[in-house]
This record gives sequence, structure tokens and C-alpha cells, in this order.
Amino acid sequence: MTEAVDDLVLVINSGSSSIKYQLLDPDSGTVTAAGMVDRIGEDNAGIEHKADGETTERREAIADHRAGLRLIFDTFAETGHDLSNAGVRAVGHRVVHGGEVFYRPTLIDDSVVEAISDLSALAPLHNPANVAGIESARQLLPDVPQVAVFDTAFFHGLPDAAKTYAIDAKVAAAHGIRKYGFHGTSHEYVSGQVAELLGRDPARLNQIVFHLGNGASASAIRGGRPIDTSMGLTPLEGLVMGTRSGDLDPGIIAHLVRSADYDIDQVDRLLNRDSGLKGLSGVNDFRELRGLIDKGDAAARLAYDVYIHRLRRYLGAYLIDLGGVDAITFTAGVGENSPDVRADALAGLSRFGIEVDPAANAAKDRTARRISPPDAKVVVLVVPTNEELAIARAAHRVAETEK
Ligand code: ADP
Repeated sequence: MTEAVDDLVLVINSGSSSIKYQLLDPDSGTVTAAGMVDRIGEDNAGIEHKADGETTERREAIADHRAGLRLIFDTFAETGHDLSNAGVRAVGHRVVHGGEVFYRPTLIDDSVVEAISDLSALAPLHNPANVAGIESARQLLPDVPQVAVFDTAFFHGLPDAAKTYAIDAKVAAAHGIRKYGFHGTSHEYVSGQVAELLGRDPARLNQIVFHLGNGASASAIRGGRPIDTSMGLTPLEGLVMGTRSGDLDPGIIAHLVRSADYDIDQVDRLLNRDSGLKGLSGVNDFRELRGLIDKGDAAARLAYDVYIHRLRRYLGAYLIDLGGVDAITFTAGVGENSPDVRADALAGLSRFGIEVDPAANAAKDRTARRISPPDAKVVVLVVPTNEELAIARAAHRVAETEK
């Protein structure tokens, strides 16, 4: 089976040990196939590929990203969608860090690959994986335009006061230290959906968006442009996350080095992998956390309370930054699926016009929807994010303009 029209986009999201992908129509959002290669570099790596209602699974050793992408292409071919002949108009690559250099979706050539690689010091786990995915895809589909879509791009124009860390300015300048922000594709997509849903001109809306997945971030958006966001130089700053600490006193690091003999890799592991919900409760998955709380587990309860406390702190800050808010939106795994988090994050704020309707909040609905009472001053919404669709649309747009 081959698609007749040359208008699909292959979206590739290469992580440090995984590659997620989707082949989709950027207009309708219809997904032809989607899947994930995981545990790259391990013996029990593998692929799970879904197309035409069927799931194909295979476990085998996958040496590197190049082998992973080849397996993806082979699996497409075996399941009836030979990618060299499937009407792929563009390949869209999610790239985590665009630094100061990239602030819009960019057609990839050798110099762009080199520049993304040069930014690896800012994202040592992510950018090298992104580059590996890009290089392999360019080899496998040499005639198809490849477009990089940056997770930092939406936040490129943050106001100076929001993006500047109060450290020695010379040190910051020498090492590219500033707030960059991440999850930008999601914050941009979701805030755009909110304006559409409300039938309001985005230029006249003040919004707060909470992207709560395994990674979590908040943004304050005025007139369609972000004025602040919770993630920083790296995706470690801000909210409590599945395994990341979010904000903490930077003095903790010096304390661990001096008093507990930590080296920098141990610090990195502690804050990125062994902290957040997992560090506090032993589990990073919100459903498991809820299960533990229901069983009366005190550590899980505290983890939840810390998580909500941090959310509310950002809510308060952004409410003041914006000078009032029109819409507060929850998205991603936890934001879309956890009514408790939404209710607790916004509890007791009716004096600010912020209210959640319990029935609307509890409804098991997968579509974008309002969960505040009709007469509340601030609209509270749940909007499913779709980073793949946003990347596909951006990649398609760039491919068309470069024609
Ligand atoms: P990421 O893309 O950052 O890996 P997701 O956006 O998929 O993460 O979110 C993952 C989180 O969402 C996990 O903590 C998971 O437990 C949570 N989640 C997913 N579904 C539900 C649900 N039905 N109820 C509560 N939490 C959920």
C-alpha cells in the first residue's frame, strides 16, 4: 500500500536511548503510523509500531540511533508503508536545545547539523541524540527536506528580566547561561488552541499554561508571546517533576560536594533521576503515586503536597507577572488526566475569579474543554497537547516555503 499524495510528514523525536516517531497528515492530524524504539544500546532493545490498527513488536539488540532508525524504516516497509515511497513531504525533527542561535523551525543542512551539535554542552543528553537521528534520517531519505523544530524556540524572546540569572554577568555571557525554557512546542500549540477554542484574538489574552507530564513546566503568555517560563538553562528548573527536583537552593550542591563528597555526576544523577516525585515517594508515575496515597502512604502524600505547593507558587507568580489572567490551561499526561491536581492547584482562589466546576473537572473526556463554571471570570481549561502535530505542521510549512 502506498499513499498517493505527497503530503505526509514523518516526525522524529530522538531521546538519549529512544526514538519516538509518527507519520501523519499535517492538515487533518490523521496518523498513518506511530511507534517507538527504546533501550537503544541495550540487548533487550526493540520497537513497538502501530499502523492500520495493528501493532508490530520486536525485541532485539539495537547498537545506536542509526540502527534504531533503520529498524523503524524496515518496520514501515514490512507493514506496507515503504517510507521512500509513502508520500513523505518532510521530516520534522524535535530538537531540544536551540540556544541563542535557533528560534524558528529551520531547514536542515550540514551547517545546521554542526550548529546543533555545537550546542551539546547546553543539552548533553539530548542534542547529540537529536543529531544522530537527523544524520540517519538524512541518509535514509536524502531527497526529503528535513526540518529542525526546537523545544526552546517559543521562549527565545523572553524579556531580559525574566531570562537573566543574577550571577556574574561575565560568567553568564561566557557560558551561554540564561533561561532558555523547554516544552515550547507544547506551550505554543496549547495556548493557540485555547485562543481558538474561546474564539478570542490571541493578542488580547493573558494565559498561564501548565504542561504536566513526566517533565513539567509552566508558562505565562501575554498576547501570544511568553513573558516567563519555569524551565531554565536546562529542563531541571521549576516545577516538581517525575524524577527531577525542579527549583532548589543552589547551595545544596556545594553542601553535597563539601559534606558528602559528591562528584558532579552524582549531583547530576540525584537532581535529574532520583529526585522529584520518585525521590520523595519511590515512584515517578502519577497513577502509582495516587495508588500509594490511597493506601495511606505518608511519603507519597508529602510528595503530592510538595508538587501542588510548587504549582501554586508558579501560579501566583505568573498571575502577578501578567497583571491578571484570562485563561489557565492544563495539558500533558498529568495535566490532562488528573482532576485532583487541577482542583488542588486552583483550590480556594475564587477571590481571584479562579474556580473549577467539580463535575466538568471530573468528566472523563479526551477533548479540549472548559472546566470552570460558565460565569467564572477566569476560564480554566484542559487541552490535550499534540507536539507531533505541531512539529509536522511547522516542518511542512518550511518545506513548502523552501520549494
Ligand atoms: P512525558 O511525555 O513527559 O514522558 P506524559 O505527558 O506522557 O509524559 O505524562 C506522563 C505522566 O502522566 C505520568 O506521570 C503518568 O502517570 C501520568 N498519567 C498518564 N495517564 C494518567 C491518568 N489516567 N491519570 C493520572 N496520571 C496519568
